[in-house]
Amino acid sequence: MYCVGIDIGGMSIKAGVVDKRGNIVKKNTVTTDVAAGPKKIIDDIGKLILSIVDMNDRDFVGIGIGCPGAVNSAAGTVDCAYNLNWRNVALAEELSRIVNRPIKVGNDANVAALGESMYGAGRMYTDTVVLTLGTGVGGGVVLGGKLYDGNEGKGGELGHMVIQVDGEQCTCGRRGCLEAYCSATALMRDTRKAMTANPDSAMWKYSPTLEEVSGLTAFECCKQGDAAAKSVVDRYIKYLGEGMLNFANIFRPQAIILGGGVCGQGDYLIDKLKDYCIKREYGFAGMPRFDILIAQLGNDAGVVGAAGLIYELI
Ligand SMILES: [Zn+2]
Repeated sequence: MYCVGIDIGGMSIKAGVVDKRGNIVKKNTVTTDVAAGPKKIIDDIGKLILSIVDMNDRDFVGIGIGCPGAVNSAAGTVDCAYNLNWRNVALAEELSRIVNRPIKVGNDANVAALGESMYGAGRMYTDTVVLTLGTGVGGGVVLGGKLYDGNEGKGGELGHMVIQVDGEQCTCGRRGCLEAYCSATALMRDTRKAMTANPDSAMWKYSPTLEEVSGLTAFECCKQGDAAAKSVVDRYIKYLGEGMLNFANIFRPQAIILGGGVCGQGDYLIDKLKDYCIKREYGFAGMPRFDILIAQLGNDAGVVGAAGLIYELI
């Protein structure tokens, strides 16, 4: 038995034949022809699938799709995806005219979280929360081995939990969201602020201009003992830790899995978060603790997670 997982991005569309253990056994990619509109893109997805599977093969049981934007997973439609310039696209229905198999559609962040949970760092667990710390903060919740994505599949917007009322401005319009403190964008903003306030900081040696600041600047200089860098890292850990503790208290997952560029810090990041969370975790002695892990699948999480949309039904 096998499924096809599709990961639709603004630049390219990836497809993979995924076996039941989450291995990608065959794959292909096509450029996303955004300018040509949804019909052309859906035709391209159809061709992409036909390039890697034999439609006469009865072992091919379904197609899962991760799509950016507001997706209605119950209806298999995409309400709105800005970077594809899509509005009200009947994705599953249109694609089923080309490939006659069950089709499930999910939001790309939720789908990648399902992939990481089923086949990546979370494969030993049934209840996980996945947080991706990138330009924004995305993620997803998997409970009892199944993706929890709420009404119409529009839930799981973990990055927009407010952790500081009236705090930093978020891209969503509210203030103080987790994303406004824990995205790489927020980390770089806070690094630049600290550098401006501390002209003697070693961060100026690591990144000689504010334009050269990256997600590494504060972390690498903190390791060398720079006080201003340490204050940036401590603040980052505090907000991320508080967010994780909130998720732990709500979902009581076995593990929280972190992905994104900041996770390149590896154990240095994880140890600080464990230290922060262990002192503040709600409950009594003997209550189950949650593990903190780093995502393992990288860019493949979207494709295997999309296939997981079908496998979780079987
Ligand atoms: Zn927000």
